[in-house]
Amino acid sequence: MFDYLIVGAGLYGATFAQQAKRAGKKVLVIDKRSNIAGNIYTKNIEKINFHKYGAHIFHTNNTEVWNYINQFSSFNRFTNSPVANYKGELYSLPFNMFTFNKMWGVVTPDEALAMIEKQKKEITREPGNLEEQAISLVGRDIYEKLIKGYTEKQWGRDCKDLPTFIIKRLPVRFTFDNNYFNALYQGIPIGGYTKLVENLLDGIEVHLNKDYFINKIEYDALADKVIFTGAIDEYFNYCLGNLEYRSVRFETEILDTSNFQGNAAVNYTDKETPWTRIIEHKWFEFGKDENGNDIPKTIISREYSTEWKLGDVPYYPVNDEKNNKLYQQYKELAKKEEHVIFGGRLGEYKYYDMDAVIASALGMAKLLLE
Ligand code: UDP
Repeated sequence: MFDYLIVGAGLYGATFAQQAKRAGKKVLVIDKRSNIAGNIYTKNIEKINFHKYGAHIFHTNNTEVWNYINQFSSFNRFTNSPVANYKGELYSLPFNMFTFNKMWGVVTPDEALAMIEKQKKEITREPGNLEEQAISLVGRDIYEKLIKGYTEKQWGRDCKDLPTFIIKRLPVRFTFDNNYFNALYQGIPIGGYTKLVENLLDGIEVHLNKDYFINKIEYDALADKVIFTGAIDEYFNYCLGNLEYRSVRFETEILDTSNFQGNAAVNYTDKETPWTRIIEHKWFEFGKDENGNDIPKTIISREYSTEWKLGDVPYYPVNDEKNNKLYQQYKELAKKEEHVIFGGRLGEYKYYDMDAVIASALGMAKLLLE
């Protein structure tokens, strides 16, 4: 008999499992995939840590989370500075003085500010959707070239129908600072995310290729409590209808060249290019292998954003009003499942970053284990 059955060996599940084991609990982790680490899974190919389910850059302002996760891996000094490619014109991201200079030829912060002040005048009320929010943050020119196309490709929805919080994730700075995140701590785990999760799960029983739903009754009987990190609507067999998610299709190539695009991430912000971005994985580790040698080849992944349908991997919850409302209804059902705790991006239907997932799992562990 186990104290906890943890469904899903991703970051939430692994963090909770580590905490439970540390507290002396008996823990079993199962995952339907053949690997641990969920969507942060990395695989070493051609000496490159390849982010199979999309790029993950760890960043946080939470010192407790940073100190916690550093017990399981060291982190390199990678700083995310994506480049936007709009029909061959390159712009710095996030929006900063380099971006404003390229867009308008402005040189000083006051000139950039004046330009944005002028352009944002068209928004006369509190922004009610992503389009209005974006224009009031950076003006129409930047919205048209760097936000509209990218956002509509990524979410498959008009910017007028998307919530404001999505664009508020990005910093706007009147300095020459290309750091994409406003975070005290940032980096990529040295040796890869899979290794990090392996360390979290050290000494814990993990069964892979096991689908909880196929043997739910037997699994439930194995433990006092279940920590479920899959999709909350799937847990309830979509009985209230499905929540919407965005999925991603990756087209990955190994190329016989050492440098394809000179940066880890290039975002294609026009509407016509079918992919949203291209990731060149080696640049997360400065193009070096584990011994510090240059890597002769490269791996690139083109990301195509798609609407999730049954059988696809869900990546992004669509936290608009309609879906949040449906989620609240599922949450009511969840409350009645007293032996089950729903956690993580899918369990809580929340556009969580990795640090927030860890914080949430640590918080739940504290609540249950202390
Ligand atoms: N975004 C944009 N242009 C870009 C990059 C991002 O308009 O070049 C917007 C877009 O709406 C996106 C949001 O910012 O959904 C958040 O982007 P982020 O990079 O945080 O998304 P993630 O890394 O989670 O895919």
